Amino acid sequence: MMQTIRSIKKMQQVARKIAAEGKTTALVPTMGFLHEGHLSLIRRARKAADIVITTIFVNPAQFGPREDLSKYPRDEKGDIRKIRKAGGDIVFIPKATDIYPDDFQTYITVERLTRSLEGESRPRHFRGVTTIVAKLFNITQPDVAVFGQKDLQQAYVLKQMANDLSWPIKFVIAPTVREKSGLAMSSRNKFFSPEQRLEACCLYYALRTAEAMVKSGVKDTVKLTKEMRAVIRATCPTAKVDYIALSKPTSFLPVYEVDRGTFCLLAVKVHGVRLIDNMKLR
Ligand code: AMP
Repeated sequence: MMQTIRSIKKMQQVARKIAAEGKTTALVPTMGFLHEGHLSLIRRARKAADIVITTIFVNPAQFGPREDLSKYPRDEKGDIRKIRKAGGDIVFIPKATDIYPDDFQTYITVERLTRSLEGESRPRHFRGVTTIVAKLFNITQPDVAVFGQKDLQQAYVLKQMANDLSWPIKFVIAPTVREKSGLAMSSRNKFFSPEQRLEACCLYYALRTAEAMVKSGVKDTVKLTKEMRAVIRATCPTAKVDYIALSKPTSFLPVYEVDRGTFCLLAVKVHGVRLIDNMKLR
């Protein structure tokens, strides 16, 4: 029987009990409205520990004032059903007022890794992410935490936090799950009409173009990004590119020539919805 827990105290008691029984736990933090990408993380977690804890919390602290917090899609009942089917043991769904009571005033900040890309485009976004995940680590005491490559910078920022703060948690970064079309699965895809959904593939097409160019010997990042912009424009003429970056997860600073371990990461606004995606190029 899967257990749904809403109280922080109860979750902490259950976590202590699991540890006392000598069992290990894997944590999968989510904001809900679950799709196959999330469920792949739960299945991966299933292989990594005895007990899988999935959390659903739309974290206000990681949304900017002009972002889509109030519009963020929710479907708690559907989510619980999907988690059960994917093999989850516990769903933790805390209330925002319990996580952030009125006098809340403590935040966690990872410094260098959050200065570029998502951190540069979304001020305070990562501060919100690290703070909520730190709280979830404290509440659930996991041995393993599973994150998606879809949010590559986020996964590395959280790993840095765990190392810096001496949390003995093993990190697993699971591959991005895509639609048949190549579009990376995202809760935000639900905002698209069928035609817009096709145009949303522009990120994937651009990444595949870069991948093919690198395979054929191109290393120059200026050439690569120029071609990627052309592909995006051709697929979705109204798209607004926020950034296209070639970086390594060690710093997320720009590299000027693609070599081993280089990823391409991009953020593009498609019909008002900000999408991100990434791919390892070499
Ligand atoms: P979110 O609900 O968007 O906060 O995502 C929760 C977790 O699911 C994060 O670790 C994401 O990286 C991961 N995730 C989101 N979309 C995908 C996807 N398409 N494939 C794999 N993991 C994903």
